[in-house]
Amino acid sequence: MRNRLVAGNWKMHGSRASNRALLDALVGGLGSLERVECAVCVPYPYLGDVAECLAGTKLAWGAQNLSEHAQGAFTGEVSAAMLAEFGCRYVLVGHSERRQLYGETDAQVADKFAAVRGQGMTPVLCLGETLEAREKGRTEEVVARQLEAVMKKNERQAFEKAVVAYEPVWAIGTGRTATPEQVQEVHSFLRKKLSPATRILYGGSVKQGNAGSLFALPDVDGGLIGGASLVAAEFIGIVEAAARAAERKKKD
Ligand code: PEP
Repeated sequence: MRNRLVAGNWKMHGSRASNRALLDALVGGLGSLERVECAVCVPYPYLGDVAECLAGTKLAWGAQNLSEHAQGAFTGEVSAAMLAEFGCRYVLVGHSERRQLYGETDAQVADKFAAVRGQGMTPVLCLGETLEAREKGRTEEVVARQLEAVMKKNERQAFEKAVVAYEPVWAIGTGRTATPEQVQEVHSFLRKKLSPATRILYGGSVKQGNAGSLFALPDVDGGLIGGASLVAAEFIGIVEAAARAAERKKKD
């Protein structure tokens, strides 16, 4: 059985003091949870603090982006080896904000995925269609193109330890969640292309109120959580929903 994963994406939020308060609340609240892996993907400057604060806890930490290059004259960039030094377990690659705001291409995302794997970390490959693509009936074509670009540059085995996050662009930060039917349709499409071991997360306005119905879906292995990961009670509620879904699937 695939382990559930709930990962928070803090985006460009936080301060040293507010991070500490949030992490203390999460560590306290998540202490007893089994069967669900949890992680927070934090802004680069806070990696040292977060690593120190979470050492010896079950909460893992990760980054939100990295350079596809190993080293060199790339001002402002951060390499996979640098992240690995901080004990990062997960790195988001190809988040829609990176693709849309910073022009990241499918080819770059594929190289970033390889860089993360090369340092023994777990890439969380984000895929998803825009509203325009969905309305034109092109959802599968878009996510297949994004996934296949990464598959072309990475051996099939690399996906066994990777995580894929389906995040419809129109659902990110908008309060508009995809329906369970829409989510299952895309996840089962992706599942057929991936190793059975690959975890597929859903992301897009997940809250504790809708997490249960999304995590109950057969091909959803957890969530990538933006806004709600900044509120301890919400994030804990989402993780608890994932734990309940895992429990139910185990009994079935
Ligand atoms: C995200 O940033 O990956 C995300 C899913 O954001 P939100 O949960 O706020 O929609």
